[in-house]
Amino acid sequence: MNDERSRQLFEEAKKYLPGGVDSPVRAYRAVGGDPLFIQKGKGAHIYDVDGNEFIDYVGSWGPLIAGHAYPQVVRALKQAAGLGTSFGAPTELETELARLVIAAMPQVEKVRFVNSGTEAVMSALRLARAFTKRDRIVKFEGGYHGHADGLLVRAGSGLTTLGIPESPGVPAAYAQNTLTCPYNDMASVKRMFKTYAEGIAAVLVEPVAANMGVVPPQPGFLEGLRQVTQESGALLIFDEVITGFRIAYGGAHEVFAIDADLTTMGKVIGGGLPVGAYGGRREIMDMVAPDGPVYQAGTLSGNPLAMTAGIETIKLLGRPGAYARLEKRAASLAGGLKAAAAEAGVPLTLNRQGSAMTPFFTSRPVVDYESAKTSDTTRFGKFFRGMLERGVYLPPSQFEAWFVSLAHTEGDIKHTVEAAKEVFAGLS
Ligand SMILES: *Cc1c(COP(=O)(O)O)cnc(C)c1O
Repeated sequence: MNDERSRQLFEEAKKYLPGGVDSPVRAYRAVGGDPLFIQKGKGAHIYDVDGNEFIDYVGSWGPLIAGHAYPQVVRALKQAAGLGTSFGAPTELETELARLVIAAMPQVEKVRFVNSGTEAVMSALRLARAFTKRDRIVKFEGGYHGHADGLLVRAGSGLTTLGIPESPGVPAAYAQNTLTCPYNDMASVKRMFKTYAEGIAAVLVEPVAANMGVVPPQPGFLEGLRQVTQESGALLIFDEVITGFRIAYGGAHEVFAIDADLTTMGKVIGGGLPVGAYGGRREIMDMVAPDGPVYQAGTLSGNPLAMTAGIETIKLLGRPGAYARLEKRAASLAGGLKAAAAEAGVPLTLNRQGSAMTPFFTSRPVVDYESAKTSDTTRFGKFFRGMLERGVYLPPSQFEAWFVSLAHTEGDIKHTVEAAKEVFAGLS
């Protein structure tokens, strides 16, 4: 594979950007080699600056559920851009996207749009602390909730990839208010509540963990969290930045039938533009300024371009058959990969929830951070590079989700499985 131009651009980028990138996992540190510079995307395919074409399972890390440059989204964006990109004043588009989100997620009665998932979670925590008048939060090992201070404790995503347990620059006083439990371990959550009793403002959880690789909740886990928070007067916050409109139109609420008090969103609801959102029960959201005293603001929040991309994407997802199509393609990919690994004698544990999945290079069931880390990351690196050579673009880390989009065809899946067969054969 010719990657000369990408190499040149990366050398140049490193002079000006830390690590040559604007988000750490993009730098390929965990898989070796240099990142490819992307020129364009169309549907499920992306093209790098050296003219190589790939089937893309990163989808910008989740947002592009409709595929790249979906014509309806692009058309609507062009039209919106022509009318002005931001006013810092209300537009009808914000109400329209809010209506769509609230209709899909009945536990959300009011919603506030922000510019990223990080900002959404940060704001939801501030609100939870104000509402409960408590400071502590419980999160889970390997859970990633953006890079806000206090949430970088035993976090997943890039921190797991790069082996960073805690980030310097976070005051100890912040981190002290973050309690961590193993994912899927209800007993440890109960112990935490016993120890800190009335001090816990909220339990913050990815209802399907997706930043240590995909790890679905075990039966009873989310129900247990709902119960223990309710009993103690703490709030339950579902971080649905990945799962919202991904695992079902109504996200985790629809799949698991559990109402969180607050829900954070991002990724898909921005359709590829920078958007986040937090929402929940009316009495809680009424505390947000200007209705209430909890301050949170944003110069570009709810801007017309981001709202437009979100609206068009969600409308597309609302069409009959959209999730059935995602499920069919994702099941076909997962089944193909499992069979190929078994045939080659490569131990593989594949976790999947809807169109998000992670094949872990381990023979153990992956139910939490510890078991996720039993994966052979060296082997993943080899697999990653082998797939890239064969035109398949995967997340450059064992601990991330692969995303199937509406644009992936059965042909794309077939090509991917054929490539995996070849690469697995070389691994065993
Ligand atoms: C990506 C992610 C975030 C952070 O969102 P950004 O838009 O990257 O700031 C928060 N929570 C979860 C579950 C995520 O996957």
